[in-house]
Amino acid sequence: MSQARPSPVRSAGVWVLLAVVLAAAPSCRSGASDDGKPSVVASFYPLEEAARQVGGSAIAVTDLTPAGAEPHDLELTPEDVEAVATADLVLYLGSGFQPAIEDAIDEAEGRTVDILGVVDTLPPPAGAEEDLPLDPHVWLDPVRYEAIVQAVADALAAAVPGSASTLRANAADFVARLQALDADFEDGLSDCARRTIVTSHAAFGYLADRYDLEQIAISGLSPDVEPDAARLAELTDLVEREGVTTIFTETLVSPKVAETLAREAGVSVATLDPLEGLTDEAVAAGEDYGSVMRANLETLRSALGCS
Ligand code: ZN
Repeated sequence: MSQARPSPVRSAGVWVLLAVVLAAAPSCRSGASDDGKPSVVASFYPLEEAARQVGGSAIAVTDLTPAGAEPHDLELTPEDVEAVATADLVLYLGSGFQPAIEDAIDEAEGRTVDILGVVDTLPPPAGAEEDLPLDPHVWLDPVRYEAIVQAVADALAAAVPGSASTLRANAADFVARLQALDADFEDGLSDCARRTIVTSHAAFGYLADRYDLEQIAISGLSPDVEPDAARLAELTDLVEREGVTTIFTETLVSPKVAETLAREAGVSVATLDPLEGLTDEAVAAGEDYGSVMRANLETLRSALGCS
């Protein structure tokens, strides 16, 4: 990539100028981080990843959901609320996925982007209508994730106009990798013995929609909506009827209910990662969206008997 880098002197100059302006107006607070880079707050991992891939070293990114934590209904500390209020850019998912962040957004002084406003959304799956008004798990469709990355690039370019060409080039690189990932999912899931996936919570609706799979979730759109005994019995029947061989557990929620179902139905268990956050081990191993999605593809191919 021979894209010329913007002059660091010029882009630094913009922020020095802004700092001077803000210092002269004490009622305003600067969102710029300690090292002077524009501050971006992401509400959970997939948005943090998009911001890092596009922003690179030009921005300082904070993720409100710590590694190893589950993002649904995240609670905010006073420091988190302050970070949302003062950031230059806040990236979040609305429609009840993380209501505390939607409350904090009202106080945000910088730009804010509700990522559910930049992609086509799907209604809740049957039986989960009470959980949330729409399915929030848009990042698990690589094609929708490309649109998310473009929207993040637009927002960052507006926040850091001096670095716009670098940001656009970074976004184009990442989108090209996501297009390759999408092509591999298309190919890898085109010829399979089975197309039904039984997942822990209903996180894979967009992935299933993109690649013509049928998702059956043990709990609802949120992991804390647990099935009752009647639902478990119904799922056990369904697993047998559909010839399902594998029940999928997740990385950030307890596998207990999925394991119970697998035992009842006499099938095996595998991990399908909904990428709601990386575990500490995944961070230590240098895993990211692309590597986890490729591992998910291999897990699906094996469970569904794809050739
Ligand atoms: Zn979820």
